[in-house]
Amino acid sequence: MLILMKPDATPADIDGVCGRVRELGFTPHLIPGQTRVAIGVTGNQGAIDPSLFAHFPAIAEAVPVSRPWKLVSRDVKPDHTIIPLPGPRATCAIGGGTFVVMAGPCAVEGREQLMTAARAVCDAGARVLRGGAFKPRTSPYSFQGLKEDGLKLLAEAREATGLPFITEVVDTRDVDLVAEHADILQVGARNMQNFALLEAVGSVRKPVMLKRGLSATIQEWLMAAEYIMAKGNYQVMLCERGIRTFETMTRNTLDLGSIPLVKRLTHLPVIIDPSHGTGDYRSVPALARAAVAVGADGLMVEVHPDPARALSDGPQSLTPANFAKLMESISAIAKVLQMKI
Ligand code: PEP
Ligand code: MN
Repeated sequence: MLILMKPDATPADIDGVCGRVRELGFTPHLIPGQTRVAIGVTGNQGAIDPSLFAHFPAIAEAVPVSRPWKLVSRDVKPDHTIIPLPGPRATCAIGGGTFVVMAGPCAVEGREQLMTAARAVCDAGARVLRGGAFKPRTSPYSFQGLKEDGLKLLAEAREATGLPFITEVVDTRDVDLVAEHADILQVGARNMQNFALLEAVGSVRKPVMLKRGLSATIQEWLMAAEYIMAKGNYQVMLCERGIRTFETMTRNTLDLGSIPLVKRLTHLPVIIDPSHGTGDYRSVPALARAAVAVGADGLMVEVHPDPARALSDGPQSLTPANFAKLMESISAIAKVLQMKI
């Protein structure tokens, strides 16, 4: 259910309604809007009888939400969600009209590799550094990441460049540790429906980027985001990183067609990852340009100082020089579309 408050509702009126929602055993979620506050109600199994709220004069309307996802829905929150970037260099927000580029190596491999990548992506105009410290690998024998040492190196790179960083958390037991260091938590494709992990990142107060699962429908993806928001973390962004189709000549099929639809269905920012989306560095620049054109709010790109020697995802990683060229070409597209970059 969505409770729309009257524009002149006072904080006490809003508190009163939230108290009533809790009394009924449900959870209230405050959704501030441009003209009025709305309160999303979750935790109910069936429809809630609107007459339970009839005696609150500051309520304009109590409407049932028929879609299975609620807090992520544009029906519930028409305004875009804007997620401010933390840090000294952070003059922009994700979803706020700036096309935010996140770039860096697939995995943090060591100080020199990370610092070189971080300085290069920073100089070329990236606004967020990416780097995996905990790596979900298909084979148990592949490099699994530097774990906590990787987080510390990412923090050093943030110190050196001023760029906030995003990194993946793969296990509920590591959520607090990762949240202590990272600026944005990433939930990877393989964990999109790890509901315990979704609830755990929903309980921290750091932004979360939720990647679309390898075989996830749009509805499943939105429901996964709903898990995070239902726990009270509203700073969620989605990331399209390619899905598995019958095609075998690309690593994944980057589902650009989902973007306009997802932007209509939800107020959450959407990021595109053409690196995992194609698996081949030669296809990344063209799809990065398409990402700007299709209306995404940002990009996640893998960049490695020496892709041939990368411990993971070398074939899809750009060299710093290729990344700088990509930035120039997407800047041209962003300019045409009157987006900052
Ligand atoms: C990654 O970003 O390095 C990663 C593992 O991505 P995905 O979860 O999309 O495969
Ligand atoms: Mn990768």
